[in-house]
Amino acid sequence: MTGPVLSYLGETRLELGPLDGVEPTGNWRVATDAAGITWLGLDKAGSGTNTISEDVLRELADHVERIETKRPRAVVIRSTKSSGFAAGADIGGFSDLEAGGAEELLRQGHDVLDRIERLPCPTVAVIHGQALGGGFELALACDRRILITGGAVGFPEVRLGLHPGLGGTFRLTGLIDPTEAMSLMLTGKTAHAGKARKLGIVDVVTEERHVAAAVETFAQGDAPDRATGWKARAMNLKQGRQLAARQMRSKTAKQAPQDHFPAPHALIDLWEEYGDDPNAMQKAEIASFARLLEGDTAQNLIRVFFLNQSLKAAGRGDSGISRVHVTGAGPMGRDIAAWAAIKGHHVTLGDVDASALGAAVKSSRRTCEGAHLSPAQTRDALDRLMPDPRGYGVPRADLVIEAGPEDPDLKAKIHADLVARMKPNAILASNTSSLGLASLADALPSPQRFAGLHFFNPVPKMQLVEVVSHDRTDADVTDRLAAFCGTLGKLPARVRDYPGFLVNRALTPYLMEAMMLVDEGVDKETVDGAAIRFGMPMGPVTLADQIGLDICLHVAESLRANLDKPMAEIPGWLREKVDKGETGRKAGKGFYDWSQGTPEPGDAPEGPADLTDRLILPILDACVECLRRDVATDEDQVDGAMIFATGFAPFRGGPMHYARTRGTGEVKARLEALAEAHGNRFAPDDGWSSID
Ligand code: NAD
Repeated sequence: MTGPVLSYLGETRLELGPLDGVEPTGNWRVATDAAGITWLGLDKAGSGTNTISEDVLRELADHVERIETKRPRAVVIRSTKSSGFAAGADIGGFSDLEAGGAEELLRQGHDVLDRIERLPCPTVAVIHGQALGGGFELALACDRRILITGGAVGFPEVRLGLHPGLGGTFRLTGLIDPTEAMSLMLTGKTAHAGKARKLGIVDVVTEERHVAAAVETFAQGDAPDRATGWKARAMNLKQGRQLAARQMRSKTAKQAPQDHFPAPHALIDLWEEYGDDPNAMQKAEIASFARLLEGDTAQNLIRVFFLNQSLKAAGRGDSGISRVHVTGAGPMGRDIAAWAAIKGHHVTLGDVDASALGAAVKSSRRTCEGAHLSPAQTRDALDRLMPDPRGYGVPRADLVIEAGPEDPDLKAKIHADLVARMKPNAILASNTSSLGLASLADALPSPQRFAGLHFFNPVPKMQLVEVVSHDRTDADVTDRLAAFCGTLGKLPARVRDYPGFLVNRALTPYLMEAMMLVDEGVDKETVDGAAIRFGMPMGPVTLADQIGLDICLHVAESLRANLDKPMAEIPGWLREKVDKGETGRKAGKGFYDWSQGTPEPGDAPEGPADLTDRLILPILDACVECLRRDVATDEDQVDGAMIFATGFAPFRGGPMHYARTRGTGEVKARLEALAEAHGNRFAPDDGWSSID
């Protein structure tokens, strides 16, 4: 047998080549070992990550046909790529499909997976890294699943406005407690090793070196049968499913209203109707998937997927940054430091306040837990993170991130102290959210190596980082910072120095309009409700409480002082609230009472007819202004940045896409009407006239 070594197999080290008589298309490596077990290694051609594309499935069908006649003792399906099992279906193929085309393609895919399921010999999927979406469905078509420690499985399709479409709906609900299966599919969450084992999704969680032995056990048919739980039996009855479906619907409606997110609701319908009949469910799954794929929500969410990819691409390259020093161990600095250490950098963290460093050490352990690190990985990450009150790390750092208090004089002092000790080629980046970079740069001997690196709160969760250049920043510096963001698994948006940069410039008018509305006597719940109905992840009043009213006030004042446009008045009572210490969630009280945890949104009266436009259109207008002023590069970047930094209604495809869907002329006219009714702050930006 010829062909490249299936290198990821580690201990197994088989020479894998194409099976006799099968045309190799480059996506699969195949070999039968001395024990008579056939190994199918997925190695998607021309890509670092496996996806389940049309050609992958077509080629798999050829291999399965061979296996059907050759009758090996067992078949193992795994990935030969170190990046993991498979990331899901090939989404690139989705956007060009017509509904009829999608159904036909899905039927072909189902046929291959059904044939794998019907093979007379034991079939085993060996999963390292992640098996998501179509990849997970391939694994579910096998009799058994072995998960390598640290791996995970999941169905993220709902995030694309879809549900599983290659048999996942009936195979997972048939394999494990169907309510748990539905919950995984409805939330799109991944199941890490412990959960996957506990739920019975995988049969074994083990280290790579034990894979061959585990496969042999399954090949001998020694593994115990799975028991069917009482819940699964109860859910075979229509009444049982109806009851469970009702609960799922009401829970889902709160998170994902049907108008905006039809997919989870379609999934519940599917299961309720056909949960006891896999064949009928299979047919219905195909039809439902194809219908969803045609809809606006899926098309916009697929667009968001590509926006994510293009921001990710901006973070490729060699940053040349390995050692990082972070100055300021407040809520931002300590999370930035912990995250950089988790991602493999050597980090020192300085602060003038020893108690802030103590708190940082504690919080970084929690950050590791939140990132699902194993105890060994946590130990390694914490070993890479050194509290450094005297700044010994500064002269060794390739990058120094300043996350000190938002005070220009204090920042200038901190910068002066740092640059005096930094090595010649190191970069200084400030996490400031509202101070002008150009004026901070004025005080520095090498302004070309100074830029903004604006992380969002909470750092581990928020994907976007603004890489902000001022007029004198070297292009090489922003390239390196963007690549550094890539090493952190973040999405860099390269923007230019401007009051509020891009994201806060666009978000602040939305938050301030919410304050104006509350000032006019509109209930805060009414204001929040309107934004949530539009599709925001939370209302602006709740968001202001989460960010911190002091921070919002500071950013709003800074924008008012620095923009040459009228902004909403800042109500006097907002300052009083901040002065009283009612700064929002962190203080236990802001607009809402946070002392018992996150407040539940209550019912609220209807608001004024133009409420939603008053909140949302200023975001669009500020985005147009940022484009006109070259703060952002293009509309896609603006859409991606606003979605990944603020959660701007993803199913609408981003603020600029929303403006285009609604009609830019209509949005401009609406802004003019709002300006007439409520004041000049709504006057449309000049940039609308250059957007066709
Ligand atoms: P913070 O004021 O809570 O913490 C700043 C830390 O810096 C404190 O621990 C303080 O002791 C320390 N410090 C003060 N003087 C110092 C000095 N001379 N040397 C070293 N450390 C010193 O601030 P934060 O909320 O963590 O924010 C830090 C920066 O990040 C600010 O510029 C802020 O605007 C920006 N930012 C904040 C958020 C947010 O939501 N908090 C979001 C994005 C960006």
